[in-house]
Order: sequence, then structure tokens, then C-alpha cells
Amino acid sequence: MELLPARYLEAMGDFLGQEEFENYKSSIREEHTRGLRLNPLKVPPWKQAAVLRTLFSEKQPKTVPWSLGEGYYYEKEKAPGKHPYYYAGLYYLQEPSAMAPAALLPIEPEERVLDLCAAPGGKSTALGARLKGAGLLVSNDVSVSRGKGLLKNLELFGLGNCLVTAEEPERLAACFPEFFDKILVDAPCSGEGMFRREPSMAEDWKMRGPEYYAPIQRELLFLASRMLKPGGMLLYSTCTFSEKEDEGAVAWLLKEVPDMEQPVLLADYGFVPGRDGASVRLYPWKLKGEGHFAAVFRKKKGLKEDGRLESGNFRGGKGKTDEEKQKKSNEIFLKRQEGFAAFRKRILAPLEERGFYWERNGELYLLPVSPKALPSLRYLRTGLHLGTVKRERFEPSQALALYLKKEEFSSSADFSLEDIRTVKYLKGETVTVDGALCSGEDGWCLVCVDGWPLGFAKRGGETLKNKYYPGWRWK
Ligand code: SAM
Repeated sequence: MELLPARYLEAMGDFLGQEEFENYKSSIREEHTRGLRLNPLKVPPWKQAAVLRTLFSEKQPKTVPWSLGEGYYYEKEKAPGKHPYYYAGLYYLQEPSAMAPAALLPIEPEERVLDLCAAPGGKSTALGARLKGAGLLVSNDVSVSRGKGLLKNLELFGLGNCLVTAEEPERLAACFPEFFDKILVDAPCSGEGMFRREPSMAEDWKMRGPEYYAPIQRELLFLASRMLKPGGMLLYSTCTFSEKEDEGAVAWLLKEVPDMEQPVLLADYGFVPGRDGASVRLYPWKLKGEGHFAAVFRKKKGLKEDGRLESGNFRGGKGKTDEEKQKKSNEIFLKRQEGFAAFRKRILAPLEERGFYWERNGELYLLPVSPKALPSLRYLRTGLHLGTVKRERFEPSQALALYLKKEEFSSSADFSLEDIRTVKYLKGETVTVDGALCSGEDGWCLVCVDGWPLGFAKRGGETLKNKYYPGWRWK
């Protein structure tokens, strides 16, 4: 409490009133909450209990009520980040309240979704998973360095239908007018709701408080509103309590962009209605989570439509001719990329139906959009990275291993969690397959833990030559 800026405490006292302010002050002395969100692409509901039992042996952890049945609390002494299941992308570690914004934005497969301020990817992984491999997720963060962490998290989750960009939102708005069905603006903010979890944010507040972030958020919301289709929904969230940001930004957008209306978010699960009656506030003394704010907008009617990308270029809602184009383009690609075509025979999944093959500087991708439709942007990733062509030969990527299911690749070696070779493999060591559950022939082999892919190896007899991506190794 002593570390919190006096000016901040004074503003909170004024905003909350005496009783609630006392509740706030007691909550700040308590331990912060921890959570993980299971990946529904890898852990279907019927496997959840088994995974949780493996992670938390003794008892089933409590569900985070607003997490669509994916989020669970865990205790401080647990370390689920250092676990082979984490390396298999079975879950994302996420503060429980931070699970709310993506859960409050309804997402359907085939939609076009933008996450404008996405790094390190907590919400993007949730939004992307709900697309179930169909449609498009554009995951953007202005910071390239933070964008790299975002990319790793999306790849771990096994998401392939994404464009990951590190762009100024103005550039995106110029490329994607009225393009997206759903947009999340999880805005940079003064972070007041996180002071308990990250006390250093209180220091940052002194330099950059609500006065600094409020105008940035308004600009982001304005640009996002331009990228939203008529009828589309925009979710605005922060992890701060400041009314200058939260409700202030909402009121500003409704005034500046009359096309936007604000549907009411229900104050369920212990959420508190925001001061405008339609947004929600998550208070740590009312629920098990840190401080958050969320508001939703819907666009009533269209803005200018010039520059809109052809919807036929995208998998969502494409017609017969577009399917033909994709087929033709993929056939030509496979003829040119003989190394990949040979490797491709080992992939039992219908990749050709899921997107467009594309080559750039020897790197091969499966794009969720036609290569011709890709706007010129600063990309960190275009679709699923399949691998690299090396002197006519093809080396599959780490992302491909995490994208595939064990049964979608013709050769695998499956180790149990207790087998010390699981961690040895993750450390980059050569291991043998003696006694492991193996299928298929020599050559590229998908190495798994309990049936979930971790990475590739090259099998020769009983030996697995390690091909785990060095940058992701277990340390
Ligand atoms: N949504 C993320 C998640 O769930 O993991 C957290 C996002 S964090 C609250 C805000 C992010 O906004 C930061 O990663 C920051 O780099 C990014 N950011 C700051 N200014 C931005 C801008 N003008 N455009 C896009 N992103 C921006």
C-alpha cells in the first residue's frame, strides 16, 4: 500500500466512496490470483479432467466462472509453466480476470477477427482457438519485440489461420476498412488493476498515468471502429480502474462515432456494472481475479467502403470458384516444391483444403488468405509456417509440429510424461525409441508426450536425432 502513489489513492477514494475504498485497500494486501486456460484445440472437454489431474494431482482446481469452461485457478506453489504439457501447448497461463474480454466477445468459425493490441497473446490464443481453424485472425502489436512472444504463444497453441503483424494501427486501418466481424482492443493502460500482481506498475503510473493513456486508447478505438464491418462487434478492455480511461473512452467513442452503439454487458459472476450502466468492472474484492474493465460496441451501419479487400480472397464464405483457385494454386505449388511434396505425403491431414501454399525466400507457409490478397504490412508471420527448403530438401517447422495432431502425421514416437526421455527431448538431446509407442517408417517423426506433439525428430532405427527448435528448449 505504501508503494502506491498518493495521487492515485486519493482518486480511488473519490471514485469508490468510503466503504468500497476500504474493501479495495484490504484486497491489495491479499495474494494475487493465478490461472491457466486450457487449449480447446488440443484438450477437448472430455480430456480436461485427466489433464488437470495430471497437473494438480490432489484435487480438481476451481473453474474461473467467466472463462467459458476453459480457465482454472491454481495455487502459488504450483509451477505449470515448467511442465511438458505446457511445451505441448495444452494451456496458457493467464491471470483469471484477463480471461474475461475474449470470453465476452462472441466468435464464430469463419469470421475475420482482429486483436489490435495482442502481445503476449493471452486473448489472441483464446480468440484464435474459437475460430476452430476456419476464418482469419489478425493478431497485431505495435512492438516487434513483444510481437515475437506473441508469435511463440500462437504457435504453441497450434493456430495456423493467423496473420501476425507488428504495425501502427493507422496502417492496418488503411488496409482493412470495414473488414472485420469482431475486434478486440485490449488497450495499453495505466494498469491500476494490476498493482497487486505487479507492484512495479505503480512506479510506471507516476510517469505514465491515465492522462497519458486516455488519448492513446481513444485513437485506438477510433481506428478499430473504422475496421469494423457494419453489424460487427468491438470489445474494449483495460486492466485499470481509471474512469478517465474506461468509461471516459467509451463515452468519447459513442460521441465521436455515431455509428457505434453500446450493448449492455451483463454484470454476472460478481462483475460490477460500469458507471455507464452498460460496461463491466471486475473488482478484486468482489471476485477471484485482478482489476479489469470491459465494454462492447456494435456498429450500426457502414462507413466508406473503398479499398475493401475482396471477400472471395478469404476462406470464410468463399464460393466454388475460389475453392477451384485454391486447388489450382496448391497443385502448381506442389509441383514446384518437390521436397515439400515428398514430405507432404506423411501429413495425413487435408492441408490443401485449409489454405493456400506459399513460398517466400525458401520459407513455406499455408496461408488462410490468397497470397495475392496479402496487404503490404510488417508481418511477423503469415499463416502457418510449414518449414524451410534446404538444398531441395524440406525441413518442417516447430509450428507445424504443434499444429498437427499425432494421428495427422504418418510417423510418431510417443513418450509418457514420466519417461525421462520426454524432458531430454525438450532439452535438445538425442534419445532412443526403445520401448516408446512408435508408428511409421524412418525419417521425419513427430515426437509426442502422452499423445500430444512436442516437435520433430529424424528417426533412424532406434535413434531419434533431435530437431526440437533450439530457441524453445527446456532450460
Ligand atoms: N492483449 C494482450 C494479452 O492478452 O496478452 C495484452 C495487451 S497489453 C494490455 C497492451 C499491448 O498494447 C502491449 O503489448 C503494447 O505493446 C501494445 N500497444 C501499445 N500501443 C499500441 C498501439 N498504438 N498499437 C498497437 N498496440 C499497442
